[in-house]
Amino acid sequence: MIQLNNTSNSGSLSCDVLVVGAGVLGLWVARHAALAGAKVIICEKREVGAGASGGFLGALMPHMPDGGWQPKKQMQYEALCDLPEVVASLESDTGGDCGFRRCGRLVPMTHHKMPENAERRVSGAAQFWLDTAGKQAFVYENIGVSDVKDDGWMTPAIASFGATYDDFSARINPRSYLAALKTFAEEHCQLIEGAEIVDLNPGEKFVILADDSKIHAERTVVTSGYEAYPMLQPLMGAMNEGKSIGKGVKGQAVLVQYDHDDTMPIVYHDRSYVVPHKGNIVAIGSTSQSDWSGKANEFDEDNMGFYKVAMELVPALADAPIIGKWAGVRPRNTLNGRGTDPFYEAVPGADGLYAVIGGFKITLGVGHEITRRLVASMLS
Ligand SMILES: Cc1cc2nc3c(=O)[nH]c(=O)nc-3n(C[C@H](O)[C@H](O)[C@H](O)COP(=O)(O)OP(=O)(O)OC[C@H]3O[C@@H](n4cnc5c(N)ncnc54)[C@H](O)[C@@H]3O)c2cc1C
Repeated sequence: MIQLNNTSNSGSLSCDVLVVGAGVLGLWVARHAALAGAKVIICEKREVGAGASGGFLGALMPHMPDGGWQPKKQMQYEALCDLPEVVASLESDTGGDCGFRRCGRLVPMTHHKMPENAERRVSGAAQFWLDTAGKQAFVYENIGVSDVKDDGWMTPAIASFGATYDDFSARINPRSYLAALKTFAEEHCQLIEGAEIVDLNPGEKFVILADDSKIHAERTVVTSGYEAYPMLQPLMGAMNEGKSIGKGVKGQAVLVQYDHDDTMPIVYHDRSYVVPHKGNIVAIGSTSQSDWSGKANEFDEDNMGFYKVAMELVPALADAPIIGKWAGVRPRNTLNGRGTDPFYEAVPGADGLYAVIGGFKITLGVGHEITRRLVASMLS
């Protein structure tokens, strides 16, 4: 059981759990730990939402229900199943509205082999997308060319071989989600913005901040996104035969204003997502760029191919004014044998130090669950 440490130490701050970074993962670690009774401090170098979590795409995409169903796919499946309840609880605690909707996803089939793959997924959904009673919970449909409807959203013209539709995919508004998590953190934890951790001091139970102050913590959880890699490389590099444990991949997206009744699905084609959100806005993204040095948040006007694809996909958006442009860097783990899977465990050889990093393009859908698992094992 957790030993609560509520005494202040020689005038400096102390806590049971120190969280480094206030993105979606850090704020979820804080929420779980605070709900378990821990005294939590969150140190954020800039401000909440300054990292990858502060964008606007918010697509919650399941792994495909086809061959090679593995524990990680099952974990993500369960996390996405639980999300409506988890979000409702957060909203009820904070009064926020995270803009979650299980909106489904429509994908045009543009190659003759795609219908065959779709058929495998139709059976896979019946086999793997199950409710707790073992019945199929969500559908994956293979829609023939002549059945693709022209309803003013995805144009049938692009669906040369039909389309697929699943009713499991969902969306959440990342900024509203973060705002609700921040409200909870402000009420139940100590959230310090503008506080950069510069030395984790592995095993010493205190960290050092950029202003040379210290915070004493029984447990420190690093959730600083791609910026965690340089800090963790000396400690975790051996797990990866000395190779890099991860890198930041830049992405950018735009937000357009478009009057809609919020009943349409996400549409995906050729690496471009069109994500309808509450409040007559639609997010469009995104790019993946490994070579971006020094320009983490700079929007590159020459890298708008994703937007052009989206206009072909949903021509109704052609006149929708762009009301926001955003660029950020997401963490992409490169751990041996684990690919880009998220890391949520103790840092080897460093007593009291933990890390929750990565998830690449699925973090918003699994963040609540991987942090729940980490906090449960950390405080047990
Ligand atoms: C363009 C784009 C589109 C995306 N679309 C989706 C999507 O549709 N669905 C999805 O699930 N995921 C998506 N992602 C990925 C997702 O946004 C990220 O994986 C996720 O937000 C990462 O969350 P995080 O909490 O780990 O990191 P971050 O949100 O980056 O938070 C880390 C925080 O740590 C702070 N920090 C850094 N160093 C320190 C330090 N030394 N001390 C204190 N604080 C520090 C930073 O300022 C930052 O606020 C997208 C990413 C991008 C870039």
